[in-house]
Amino acid sequence: MQSQKKHPQLFSFEFYPPKSEEGAANLQVVHSKLAKLNPDFFSVTFGAGGSTREKTFESVIEIQSKGIAAAPHLSCVASTRENIREILKRYQDHGISKIVALRGDLPSGMLSAGEFRYANELVEFIRQETGDHFQIHVAAYPEVHPQAVNGDQDFKNFKRKVEAGANAAITQYFYNAEAYFYFIDQCEKNGIDIPIVPGIMPITNYSQLFRFSEMCGADIPRWMRKRLECFGDDRKAIQAFGIDVVTALCGRLLESGAPGLHFYTMNQAGPTLTICENLHIGQRTE
Ligand code: FAD
Repeated sequence: MQSQKKHPQLFSFEFYPPKSEEGAANLQVVHSKLAKLNPDFFSVTFGAGGSTREKTFESVIEIQSKGIAAAPHLSCVASTRENIREILKRYQDHGISKIVALRGDLPSGMLSAGEFRYANELVEFIRQETGDHFQIHVAAYPEVHPQAVNGDQDFKNFKRKVEAGANAAITQYFYNAEAYFYFIDQCEKNGIDIPIVPGIMPITNYSQLFRFSEMCGADIPRWMRKRLECFGDDRKAIQAFGIDVVTALCGRLLESGAPGLHFYTMNQAGPTLTICENLHIGQRTE
């Protein structure tokens, strides 16, 4: 973990763009609660294929106007170069300087993958078009991307994104800390020393977590599944267990030298706030 310890520990919170007025009002409340923790940035997801293009843009501009940096996600699948160029220019014109560059997954029913095949091509394009303007974050998969041929190939593909100019990475969420430590080891053996920030998914709803994890290839360890199954519909019990387990995971990662944490908030403040409070995040002086 030596390569990671040299980076400052930075914290970020991810939102998805709200779909309704009610969702927008909720996000304002969530944002103001989490802003008190003074994160490094808030990020806003982007529907692959451009489905949330305007809503992502609006949320990013609104968040940035409130004083803490906002980083749009940008996925390139089903996009053209011209499309991406326009989006980058718009963000540049609005003073946005961080971006999370992704491939995304082709939405069902959409047949053409567009002009970019993989995220490394997007990173390369952003650098060609905008030089060093953007601090580029990319995705990393300590438990291996679900479509990868194998772990080695997936790692080589991660390396391509770093070589194309990524400044930092955020991982898919995981509950096995060992997978992250192993991934960092592999990075160090391959001369990769950018910050690789663990993505953290608080646990609030077992069936939703189970579905997501199946899709994105995140492993819920057997002991966690077996415990979660016992709680049935008892949301309070699920959340209390989730807070304990995720606080312990985050504490271990930070003590081992992880360069911060990125929380997938699912537009809810409660669980993320409690975990951060447990770890005294936002009250740090260093
Ligand atoms: P890539 O890095 O391109 O990898 C995709 C797959 O292709 C992998 O299996 C990889 O091994 C393989 N591959 C990569 N490069 C090559 C190559 N040159 N040749 C051959 N094979 C290759 N999705 C959204 O739609 N919107 C979001 O806002 C969003 N935000 C995310 C944020 C984070 C932090 C993470 C971890 C994921 C996010 N996702 C988002 C999900 C992501 O889009 C999916 O996981 C997607 O399947 C892969 O995107 P990627 O950028 O990791 O793709």
